[in-house]
Amino acid sequence: MMRAVTFRAFGGPEVLEAVEVERSEPGIDDVLVRIHAAGVCYHDVLSRAGKIPGGKPGRILGHEIAGEIVAAGANVVPARIGERVVIYQRLFCGTCGYCLAGRQDLCRNSRVIGEQGGGGYAEFACVPVRNAIRIPDGLDMTAAALAVCPVGTSVRAALGVAALEPGQTVLITGAGGGLGLHQIQVAKSVQARVIAVTSSSDKVESVRAAGADEVVVAPDLKFSGEVWRLTGKQGADVVLENVVTGTFGESLRSCAQHASVVVLGNIGARPIELDPGLVIMRRIRIAGSGNATFKDVRTALHLLASGAVKPIIGHILPFPQAAQAHALMERRAVTGRVVLAGW
Ligand SMILES: [Zn+2]
Ligand SMILES: [Zn+2]
Repeated sequence: MMRAVTFRAFGGPEVLEAVEVERSEPGIDDVLVRIHAAGVCYHDVLSRAGKIPGGKPGRILGHEIAGEIVAAGANVVPARIGERVVIYQRLFCGTCGYCLAGRQDLCRNSRVIGEQGGGGYAEFACVPVRNAIRIPDGLDMTAAALAVCPVGTSVRAALGVAALEPGQTVLITGAGGGLGLHQIQVAKSVQARVIAVTSSSDKVESVRAAGADEVVVAPDLKFSGEVWRLTGKQGADVVLENVVTGTFGESLRSCAQHASVVVLGNIGARPIELDPGLVIMRRIRIAGSGNATFKDVRTALHLLASGAVKPIIGHILPFPQAAQAHALMERRAVTGRVVLAGW
């Protein structure tokens, strides 16, 4: 048996409760990981509320997991027992064209740990050994838990999808959010120039501390004029759109010729308007981005271990206080991540 946090019915944060559940035993290609830290993602909040298709109550949430390998199946090199690892969050097939091309995030035959059970809000998790990625020495477990998401997600968007290069200008909307604050640092790690947009002057300090070169405070969501001025009428080469609803038109107007706009946000969860003329005239490329690949997580771990990206953690709470962690996330009362650690 093991301790875990789960929920009997969809609902508010209070449905989360610490219980005893059966502990799964590793199959021949699996490892058993004793979990030290698990990040709380907004995705978990949506799952608990029943807003993710295919979700079911009774599952153990959490896909941002760091811990130690404590047991392994017969096919696993015994030397890996005792290793500190983060768990790659997708259980992927490993044989399809996408997986073989290193794009485990696109695998049609994959699922995210936690969303369908077996997640991080527990004492142990059992996963295929190939999902266990070694944590570099000197990087602590709470920081490492952020490697999958939000740091890995930021690596995918900025360095993967947008292929951001030194000297390019990147515009980041919703820059004061958990994703934005890590995207700023990932962009600075390749010496890009960061223009950060936030709707709230309360966030200016944390956005600057994360390394933004310029901060545009736009409570009315009008920022393209300021971006035009800051770039000498050249525009931004890359836009990381964490908001989209109410900002997308301004983001397109902020674009340089042949800019890339990476769509990550879906705040309003409804269609938006698009000016095709502007997209054609400026040859703008619009692309979606999501989960990190395996390689992105390794890059994220390197950026965290080298200090290029500092994990932004607002609260560390023990696992039985998962309900409080969710409540903090829902009220957006926290800068950066909430991480569960210890019982
Ligand atoms: Zn996440
Ligand atoms: Zn696959």
